[in-house]
Amino acid sequence: MNVAIYPGSFDPITNGHLDIIKRAHRIFDKLIVGVLINSSKTPLFSAQERVKMIQNICKDLKKVEVISFNGLLIDVAAQQGATVIVRGLRAITDFDYELQLSQTNKVIAPDIETIFLNTNLKYSYLSSSIVKEIAFYNGDISEFVDEDVAKEIKKKIAAKRS
Ligand code: ADP
Repeated sequence: MNVAIYPGSFDPITNGHLDIIKRAHRIFDKLIVGVLINSSKTPLFSAQERVKMIQNICKDLKKVEVISFNGLLIDVAAQQGATVIVRGLRAITDFDYELQLSQTNKVIAPDIETIFLNTNLKYSYLSSSIVKEIAFYNGDISEFVDEDVAKEIKKKIAAKRS
C-alpha cells in the first residue's frame, strides 16, 4: 500500500492546502494529513481544532486520515507506514527551505521520498497567515477558505478581541 504524509501547520487549512490534499488523494492509497503541534509560531488554533477542521472538510475523501504530531516528521512517517512526504510549492520563495528540508530528511531517512506538488495557480498567493491577517481586519475570506473554516476564524478572532 502506497501511504503518503502531508505535513504542515494548517493554521488554518486554506483552499490551497485542500487542493494539494485532493490531488495527493488521487495518487496514493492512503494520505495522512499531519498537523504539526510544535510549531515555532504561536498558532491561532490548537492542534485539536486544526485536526477537526481538516477532518470536517475532508470527510468525503475516504483515503484521508488526519493526525497531529510532535517531533521529527520522518519518525512519524515511519510510525504511520508512510514512504512519501508530500509538500506544496507555491513560488520560488518556498523552494530553498523545502529543498533543505527534503535533503536533510533524505540523509536521515533514505527510504522516505519527498514529492512536491506545484500550487494550483488559483492559490499561488495564498497562505494561512494572509487569511488570518485579512480576517483580523474584517475582510472577506470566503474565496480563500471553506465556509466552516471562515466561521471558525471569525469566532476565534472575536474571542481574542473580547
Ligand atoms: P508549514 O508551516 O509546514 O509551511 P503550512 O501549513 O504553511 O505549513 O503549509 C503546509 C504545506 O502546504 C507546505 O508544503 C506549503 O508549501 C503548502 N502550501 C501552503 N499553502 C499552499 C498553497 N496556497 N498552495 C499550495 N501549497 C501550499
